[in-house]
Amino acid sequence: MRRIAVLTSGGDAPGMNAAIRAVVRTGIEGGVEVFGVRNGYHGLVNDNFFQMGARNVGGIIQRGGTILGSARCLEFKTEAGRKKGLRCLNQHGIDGLVVIGGNGSQTGSNEIAKLGFPVVGVASTIDNDLYGSDVTIGVDTALNIALEAVDRLKTTASSHQRAFLVEVMGRDCGYLALMTGIAGGAEAVVIPEIETKPEEIGEIIESAYERGKSHAIIVVAEGAKYDAAKLAAYFEENYEDLGFKLRSTTLGHVQRGGDPSAYDRILASRLGAAAATCLIGGEHGVLTGWINGAIATTPLAEVVAHKKTLDMELFELARLLD
Ligand code: ADP
Repeated sequence: MRRIAVLTSGGDAPGMNAAIRAVVRTGIEGGVEVFGVRNGYHGLVNDNFFQMGARNVGGIIQRGGTILGSARCLEFKTEAGRKKGLRCLNQHGIDGLVVIGGNGSQTGSNEIAKLGFPVVGVASTIDNDLYGSDVTIGVDTALNIALEAVDRLKTTASSHQRAFLVEVMGRDCGYLALMTGIAGGAEAVVIPEIETKPEEIGEIIESAYERGKSHAIIVVAEGAKYDAAKLAAYFEENYEDLGFKLRSTTLGHVQRGGDPSAYDRILASRLGAAAATCLIGGEHGVLTGWINGAIATTPLAEVVAHKKTLDMELFELARLLD
């Protein structure tokens, strides 16, 4: 292996830069040339490559987002698109590729592996919905941002006797909502993995009011059957008085922004370095992730064939501590 490339794909996540930095510096240290690909698979298909040196990745470990840019690329979902991407890799004499990204991106990297090209994935998504890593790059930062918002909402909710529906990201995965709920001391958490009837949430809010609480915080995952907007509409239609006045807030993309936490920088540095080491050492077709407190590789075919499950004990804990 003489030349490797790295790209970031799909939803950006705080810590991606630390992962890029680790791939580049570990690669150079390991005696290979490293190329960056701009804008994910879009850049791969459209030949947007540039050579990176150790200095290109100076001063980025503390920055959110990704210096390589990210994109969603429909063309790469077609065989013709992927072959075009492979041609570009071959034209630049690149022998191996690191793909930093989430579920969709690793589905793409598995397709590259199936074509026989050496590829290693790095588990990175704020949704934490990727099989093959207990925790993915970006989750910790997103969680801390959501938590800070909940803490702030609690202060104002208490002053005005309000109940807040706080919608957090996570696509079809309730991890971010569940962890935000536990760490933020929420009265209830609504996640896609468990069907919660809106009247159950109504009862929780009424009961919190009756027990003399000064506020109620309900953390809702964006992928839940009843998201914050649907819950708010339900309460508007079906309840004359919940006790608390109800407000709804969707945190949205603020959860992706900002500087990566210490945890994400370290996780990203470790996984990025591991990915480059794997490629150089001849191990590919795998995802580098974090399992049971250590770096672990999982075949990409296995990663895409499994859906990550949520630890239901945590859901019970959130209920117990409300
Ligand atoms: P994330 O990696 O954050 O889950 P997406 O689901 O948007 O983000 O996927 C990112 C990109 O990965 C897509 O725009 C596409 O280029 C590529 N991708 C997703 N699914 C596939 C697939 N089945 N085959 C090939 N490429 C895919």
